Amino acid sequence: MMKPLAPKVEQLDPHCWRILNHGFSMNSGLIVGEERAVVIDTGSGPREAAGLYAAVRRITDLPLLVINTHAHGDHVFGNSYFAAHGVEDFHASAAAAEHLRGHGDEERQLVRFLEPEMALRQGPYSNIVVPSRIIGEAGATLDLGGTSLEVFGLGRGHTAGDLLVRCGRILFTGDLVEEGGPPNFEDADPFLWAELLERLERECRPDTVIVPGHGNVVDVDFIGRQLREMRAALREGEEIVASWPAGRVDPTAFQLEWMPYGPEQSSIFLQRLRELLP
Ligand SMILES: [Zn+2]
Repeated sequence: MMKPLAPKVEQLDPHCWRILNHGFSMNSGLIVGEERAVVIDTGSGPREAAGLYAAVRRITDLPLLVINTHAHGDHVFGNSYFAAHGVEDFHASAAAAEHLRGHGDEERQLVRFLEPEMALRQGPYSNIVVPSRIIGEAGATLDLGGTSLEVFGLGRGHTAGDLLVRCGRILFTGDLVEEGGPPNFEDADPFLWAELLERLERECRPDTVIVPGHGNVVDVDFIGRQLREMRAALREGEEIVASWPAGRVDPTAFQLEWMPYGPEQSSIFLQRLRELLP
């Protein structure tokens, strides 16, 4: 029998909750109006989604809709569970929907330890549900009855299609902001991500409560630090790539020591720079 994974629930204001899924420390969001409620990101498979759904239902019995901040498996693989429990409207960027349609199965590897059924495509709720409500470049305002939220993109960053959700002073950023671990560069354009963080910093006020894709709630100063660290890593990384010996595939341990993101993500960061720089 599949065991649901119980998340940790934190209320941030009268309408907004952060729901921490333990597996990847991924933050789902819940925004509750008078007529409808929104779940932001559904977890990494049916186990997490079952715990998340139960947590949501302890707070509200209103009809739900889902927003996926981006197409990584730990954020979208609970969609099928939510669809089976009555959710019809799944929102995402066009790029995220396209990634999930074309490469969704490749995402399954990521969740193999936490969600073996999802990884192996076995059993109920292990199919991939691709969002059909596409949020365009102009963004959208969703009215939940008595309260509303804005969902919008700020350009390419962590992936080709990251969405943010704002309700009052609460801002859900998906993996554009990460707390407790390095940013993930697997599908990122680090140059554009740094520019995006600059725009994001301007979007925030001193009292904005930022719910990152993973880890604890942060403030605008944290975004400033992530931005400065990325700018420094880009400067260092460009020098490393410029002097890269022909024929070498992986960065050396010495090169990685100059980067701030730990061996795995620093290595991916440098590989992305090599692909992006002329
Ligand atoms: Zn991600």
